[in-house]
This record gives sequence, structure tokens and C-alpha cells, in this order.
Amino acid sequence: MTIARRLDSLLLQADRRSKMKAIGRWLDERDPALKAALLRRARERGVDLPDETIEWPGKRLVRLALAKEGESRARSNPIKKDEAFRCMCCGTWVPEGGRSPRNHCNVCLRSRHVDIVPGDRAAECRGIMEPTGAEMAGRAGIVIRFRCLCCGVRTRNRAVREGPYPDDERALRVLLAGGGAPPISKNRGMEPGVEE
Ligand SMILES: [Zn+2]
Ligand SMILES: [Zn+2]
Repeated sequence: MTIARRLDSLLLQADRRSKMKAIGRWLDERDPALKAALLRRARERGVDLPDETIEWPGKRLVRLALAKEGESRARSNPIKKDEAFRCMCCGTWVPEGGRSPRNHCNVCLRSRHVDIVPGDRAAECRGIMEPTGAEMAGRAGIVIRFRCLCCGVRTRNRAVREGPYPDDERALRVLLAGGGAPPISKNRGMEPGVEE
């Protein structure tokens, strides 16, 4: 049996936490070639891991190799998506960002938890990301801090200041001043005649 086949049949049994532990221990005691094979398999599943992960405990490696594609963490080269969308919070139709992909509504500044690495759309949460604050960050300009209302994950994203649909200046000023998330007024913005 090849190493890959052997790994596959082992991983099929690793659906329970206790099994995962046992298989992890087993990996720790064997030839490092097995861990290398596991790394390769994880990469095939879209989990892009640096080479030093081979030093990690076997249990952790098994957990990663079993990660669903949607949970893959460290994609080094995510696809940047820049699409128009309708804001789930205030109903605004938010056009593409153009030069800089936008991930939040330009009116209420809310976003959705859809990315693990910016642009990869790999998160399964889909919760609403509320702006919690903002700061000046050198050449990046204003950077907005977000927190997911569903799972609590925190992210940051550049504010959009240029183009025909910049972020609402008043809302940005409130965030910069520590005033918290701007209020939501429903159904603002234009209707493009296209429904989601
Ligand atoms: Zn909005
Ligand atoms: Zn979330």
C-alpha cells in the first residue's frame, strides 16, 4: 500500500477526537516521511501550509489535513473578488470598488463575514461585521476595524475615499472619534433594478 493510500484510510477513521489523538501520536512516532505526505495532502485540499508545519505535533497535523476546504486558513494567494452587492443591513446597492476591492457598504459601513483571508470567500459564518472603530494607518489611510456579530472574529479593512462611491464621510469621522458604529437607516441608496 502506498503512503498516500495508507494515510487516506487512516484519516477516514479520524472522525472522532480520540482517534485523531491516537493517529497523531502514531504519526509522531514514525518516519517524518509520513508527516511530509500528510502536508502534501493538506495542500491538495487547499490548506496552504509553510514547510515548518512538519515540526508540529501529529495531532495538529491530522486536524489540518481533515479541514474542509471552506475552513482552509492560510491561502497565500487568495483570489481578490470585487463585486457589487446589496447591503444586508441598510439595503444600499453597493457598486464594485474598482481600483481597490471593497468589502463593506459605503453608507452604513457594515460588512459580511465571508472571508478568512481578504478576498478568499472561504468563511462559512456569513454574519454581519459591525464597524467598531477606525484609525489612521500611514499610507493605507483610514483603516476600519470590524467585529463579527455572529462569531466575534475581528478584521480590518481600508476605508474607500476615492471614486464615485466613497465611504460616508460623516460615518467615518464618528468611527475615528471613537463614537462606535454609525446608525442604520433603511433603504437608502439607489435601486439598480437588479435583485439578488
Ligand atoms: Zn449598508
Ligand atoms: Zn463571523
